[in-house]
Amino acid sequence: MLLKRSIDFGSHENVSYANGKVTLGKVSLNVYSFTVDGVLIDTGSKSLSKYFEPFIMGADIDKVVLTHIHEDHTGCASLIQQKRNIPIYIHEMSVQDCERNPDYPLYRKVFWGKRKPFKAKAIGDTFTSRNAEWDVIETPGHAKDHLAFLNKETGQLFSGDLYVQTKTKVVLREESIPTIIRSIDHLLTYDFNEMFCSHAGYLKDGRKKLELKRDYLVEIQQQVIERYQDGLSPQQIHDILFKRKYPITKLSFGEWDSMHIVKSIIDEGKLPIS
Ligand SMILES: [Zn+2]
Repeated sequence: MLLKRSIDFGSHENVSYANGKVTLGKVSLNVYSFTVDGVLIDTGSKSLSKYFEPFIMGADIDKVVLTHIHEDHTGCASLIQQKRNIPIYIHEMSVQDCERNPDYPLYRKVFWGKRKPFKAKAIGDTFTSRNAEWDVIETPGHAKDHLAFLNKETGQLFSGDLYVQTKTKVVLREESIPTIIRSIDHLLTYDFNEMFCSHAGYLKDGRKKLELKRDYLVEIQQQVIERYQDGLSPQQIHDILFKRKYPITKLSFGEWDSMHIVKSIIDEGKLPIS
C-alpha cells in the first residue's frame, strides 16, 4: 500500500502552524508543529521532514520546546540541530533517551519514520520567549514525560497530546486513564481558554473541550468500576462499552486498543472483585 503525505500551513493570531498528514489505506494520522513568539513547539515527524522543512527552517525562532518524546513530535529535531544552532528542550526524564536511537514498533516507523538521535536540555518549570513568560505543566497519562505549555501573556495553552479528542475510544498500551483525568484536572486550575492541540489544532474553546473530555473519562471510569465490582471481566466490560472496532487497533497489532482504557482503570484501582 502506498503511503500518502501532505501538509498545510496557516495561522491563528500570533501562532503559525504546519499540519502534516500521513495516510495508509484506511488510517490517516496527522501532527501539528507551531511557532509563536520565537519558539517552535514540536517538530513534526521524520517521515514528513521534507514537508515540515520549509516551516521549521524558515521560521524566526530561537528555541524549540517539545511536549513529549513521541516520534511524531520529535522527528525533525535532529534536522533542526544540524542546520540551526538553537537549543531544544524536553522533560528532564527524556533528555538521555533523545540521544539514543529509539525503539518503537514497525507500523510507527512506517507512518512517522525513524527519529534520529539529538541533544536536548531539561526544560524546567518555566521558560521565556521574546515577549512572554511560560508555565511548563506536567501532564502525564498519554506519555510519562508529557508537558503542556501555557503562554502567561496571552493565556494560550499548547496541550500536546493530552486532548486530541473529547470521546477517546482507543489509547496506547502504556496510557493511563486515571492519570489523564488527574492531569486534565490539574491543567484546569490554570487560567487559559484558547488551546492548540498537536492533533486537533486550534480550539477556541479549549477549556470547555478539556472539561468535556474530563467528564467523559470520569463517566467511563465509573462505568468500568461498577461493572467490575459486579463481577464482569475486563473483556466483558470492554465489549459493552466499546462496540466499534477501529482500523488502528489491527494495524498497530493492539498497541492502540479500547481495552487499554478498561485495563488502566482496573489496574489503578486494584479493584477487589465483590
Ligand atoms: Zn504522543
